[in-house]
Amino acid sequence: MTNQQVRICIIGGGFGGLYTALRLSELPWQQDQKPEIILIDKSDRFLFSPLLYELITEEMQTWEIAPPFAEILANTGIVFERGEVTGIDIQDKQIELTNSKQISYDKLVIAIGGKTPLTNIPGAIDYAIPFRNLHDAYRLEEKLRLLEETERDKIRVAVVGGGYSGVELSCKLADRLGEKGRIRIVDRGDKILKGAPEFNRAAATKALEQNKVWLDLETEVEQVEADTISLIYKGQVDTIPVDIVMWTVGNQVSELIAKLPLEHNERGLLVTQPTLQVSKHEDIYALGDVADNRDATGEKVPATAQVAFQQSDYCAWNLWASLNNRPLLPFRYQPLGEMMTLGVDNATLSGLGMKLDGSIAYIARRLIYLYRLPTLKHQLTVGFSWITQPLVNLISNED
Ligand SMILES: Cc1cc2nc3c(=O)[nH]c(=O)nc-3n(C[C@H](O)[C@H](O)[C@H](O)COP(=O)(O)OP(=O)(O)OC[C@H]3O[C@@H](n4cnc5c(N)ncnc54)[C@H](O)[C@@H]3O)c2cc1C
Repeated sequence: MTNQQVRICIIGGGFGGLYTALRLSELPWQQDQKPEIILIDKSDRFLFSPLLYELITEEMQTWEIAPPFAEILANTGIVFERGEVTGIDIQDKQIELTNSKQISYDKLVIAIGGKTPLTNIPGAIDYAIPFRNLHDAYRLEEKLRLLEETERDKIRVAVVGGGYSGVELSCKLADRLGEKGRIRIVDRGDKILKGAPEFNRAAATKALEQNKVWLDLETEVEQVEADTISLIYKGQVDTIPVDIVMWTVGNQVSELIAKLPLEHNERGLLVTQPTLQVSKHEDIYALGDVADNRDATGEKVPATAQVAFQQSDYCAWNLWASLNNRPLLPFRYQPLGEMMTLGVDNATLSGLGMKLDGSIAYIARRLIYLYRLPTLKHQLTVGFSWITQPLVNLISNED
């Protein structure tokens, strides 16, 4: 860092943080003004989480949906620091990492996402698997592999949560397990996909029926044990055998965020201004699942990749504007619709006046996500692999 060079530290290289860093590096800085941009993440890879389900059916490989930061950031000038942030000294502008390393900052972006709460139900932390990151997907994969190697005729999976994640995961599990699969979705509500467009809910309901996924609605989880799950339906407790419990409900801030001396809302999320600056701290920005996101009208916006991705443009611009004496812009959310995978070769999509399901939606979803992958180089490599893979499979099947 040169004497006057401003240092911007971005904690979390997900949809909010990584794309903020990339946008920042592309903005028109005067030569002597370009800030030092440091991106910190505990993982060595970015994860394109909407495609995490595809690992379960082996439709995609880790390298496609989770490219290493070293690869994405090559030639951008952004410095990558791998490490888990354990504390932030707001007063002294210092970030503390697990390896006792400290990094100072002039401007800070907090984008570390959320975590799945598992401590509210007895046994969930020990026996249920969340589905948020590569580690979770590998844990599930390993359990499935071990069960598939046994002689058993059924593999019983309970998926807790009938939201997007629960439904998408159930469809992929049904495809993976085929006739052996006995999958049930457990949700306390009276319908799945509360708040989703009617078209998507209808397509998802059809896909779940076709895949023989059982729905336990108006049902709560009382307890999870090594090979059972206890469910409460209309006051009655039923304990049923299960091989895998997947937990897809809830979004909670980490301890790191909870202990920061910044303003939090009733759910512990960081309170921000429409410019994404943290309340009363104009050098600190927060975006994505960690923040109490609202747009310029004060309207609450959902905790989604779509929101974090759009916010990253504003966050980068506002950082640039704050260093160039230009006005900061309030975040304006543009809902572009919703897409869901409903298994191999099936998806649903509604938005921007379009409604698609089946194979067409499956292809459209893939192409839209291909376009959203970070860096043109990675998009081209993945796109090329998708085109050539069927050919490679054909040749290797003939050998
Ligand atoms: C399986 C799945 C499917 C999804 N599908 C969709 C979808 O189809 N459409 C959609 O819009 N949204 C979807 N979402 C939601 C979306 O992924 C999140 O809303 C989005 O990723 C939030 O972005 P973020 O930047 O806040 O956090 P994240 O993308 O979660 O990134 C947080 C980053 O911070 C890092 N980190 C965390 N703690 C620390 C620490 N202490 N120190 C250093 N680094 C840290 C993590 O390693 C991670 O890289 C899905 C989520 C999941 C889990």
